[in-house]
Amino acid sequence: MSPEKRLLVFLILIVLLPSIIYSTFEIGNLNDYEKRIQTIYNNQLETVLFSINQFSEDITSSWASQLTRDLSESKFPDKAKLNATLNEFIRRTESIEGVLLYNSETKESFFSENESQIIKDEEIIKIIDENNSLFEKLSRYKDAGYRKLEVLGEIDNKFQLITFSIVNSLSGFDFAVFVLNQNTFITSVLARKIESIPAENFVVSIFNTSSDSLLFSTSTVRSDDFGISKKLWLLPEYSTGINLMDKTIESLVRDRTWISYTTIILLNLVIISGIFFIFKFVSQTVKLAKLKTDFVSNVSHELRTPLALISMFAETLELDRIKSEEKKKEYYRIISQETGRLSNIVNRILNFAKTESGKRTYKFSQTDVNEFVQKIYDTYKFHLSNNGFNFILELKENLPGIEIDQEAISEAVINLIDNAMKYSSERKKITLRTAANEEFVFVEVRDEGIGIKKEDLKRVFEKFVRISDGEIHNTKGTGLGLSLVSQIIEAHNGKVELLSTYGKGSLFRLMFPVKKMKNGNNYV
Ligand code: ADP
Repeated sequence: MSPEKRLLVFLILIVLLPSIIYSTFEIGNLNDYEKRIQTIYNNQLETVLFSINQFSEDITSSWASQLTRDLSESKFPDKAKLNATLNEFIRRTESIEGVLLYNSETKESFFSENESQIIKDEEIIKIIDENNSLFEKLSRYKDAGYRKLEVLGEIDNKFQLITFSIVNSLSGFDFAVFVLNQNTFITSVLARKIESIPAENFVVSIFNTSSDSLLFSTSTVRSDDFGISKKLWLLPEYSTGINLMDKTIESLVRDRTWISYTTIILLNLVIISGIFFIFKFVSQTVKLAKLKTDFVSNVSHELRTPLALISMFAETLELDRIKSEEKKKEYYRIISQETGRLSNIVNRILNFAKTESGKRTYKFSQTDVNEFVQKIYDTYKFHLSNNGFNFILELKENLPGIEIDQEAISEAVINLIDNAMKYSSERKKITLRTAANEEFVFVEVRDEGIGIKKEDLKRVFEKFVRISDGEIHNTKGTGLGLSLVSQIIEAHNGKVELLSTYGKGSLFRLMFPVKKMKNGNNYV
């Protein structure tokens, strides 16, 4: 397995896999959490509702105790005194508008109410008669020494009757019935209690269960959603509901779940992109490291051949074995040619290092392209024809002048000619050509050599890259030539175009931007 693949597997196993397993587990659990959170919320809210119910029972029960205490002082049959006691109790007790005393054995009753005088005691008696069994049950409780409040029923949709047994009463009655004004009870007595609950985030409302009409709410904003609701134990026609101030519990839980999902997904995306970038960075570094190693071996190889030739011919000359002057001349020529090659390689590497570190400076001068290309052609034509090449020069007339660093551009063109020679096999034809369009002046080097595969067209300009194809493998090189060419042309704000057909040949086009004069004409 390649190091890159190994790294990818490692990253997936160590980072991605655990995070995916964890995320799947978390997402699976979210529903469960959602339900649990909802239950916790609901329980809390129900506790508040329970406390309201408990309070209404406690306060009514305390009234019952108070009445029992009051009655223990008034003795039957002093009805006037009894009436006065009841009236005093009714006056003191907010929301109780009447009290009926009842003897479950003799069926006698005594009724007293406040000044409004709107309640008919026959109606109360009627309801008592309908609830005979309830009184029997309460009597049994009483015998066991236990008092319980029981709801008897509603009259006029306005009053609720609540009964309880009177223990140790001197009045001669064993039951009392409170006529409770439901509205007053809710809006004064209960409201006070509810408003004292420290619940900034809750809305507590009391509403009529059958008509859904709101009687009281801690919020001025009316909502038809009463949230969780419970019947009031003492006023069964009414319910109390509780809700969160600005959201329902469901939407709160949904929001939380949504945030959790998004966080998990985002986290995974971050991890995946992290892995992607680490992988890309490491595999690029690995590739570059390999290219550098190849580069060192390529350069050593390039240096060894001329050095071997130079030392061999120099030794031969030193031993003075060669008598013919002609042969000697040839050896000197070879030594100087190989020295030139050596210094070319060294220069190329030095120039590359300079350009890479941004230290290379360019000396631009106005140049006639044709003159410039002609000079290169003249210098190289013998070298090329000596190597069996048909070297053709095609110059387009009247080209606009361009500003170039002549030394750098000749280095680029020579590199291209060098490559054209190296990568030509049977068809040894190289054309050096100048041309132009509206925006650019071109210098082209065309060969009919081995060509470049489509997929390698971009790569060949990368530093250290050499295409290792069967045929090229034997060709010497450093992989720096084309990257140097593109760096130089970039510094001229120009472009390099490469057209190539594998097996047929390549065309490298150096394009220099034409400088326009202010009136739009070209410089010539
Ligand atoms: P090298 O020192 O290997 O020639 P270059 O950067 O000059 O380095 O070229 C990079 C690669 O591009 C070469 O190894 C070769 O495969 C390919 N190449 C360059 N010029 C030509 C050409 N004229 N014809 C075919 N292939 C070429």
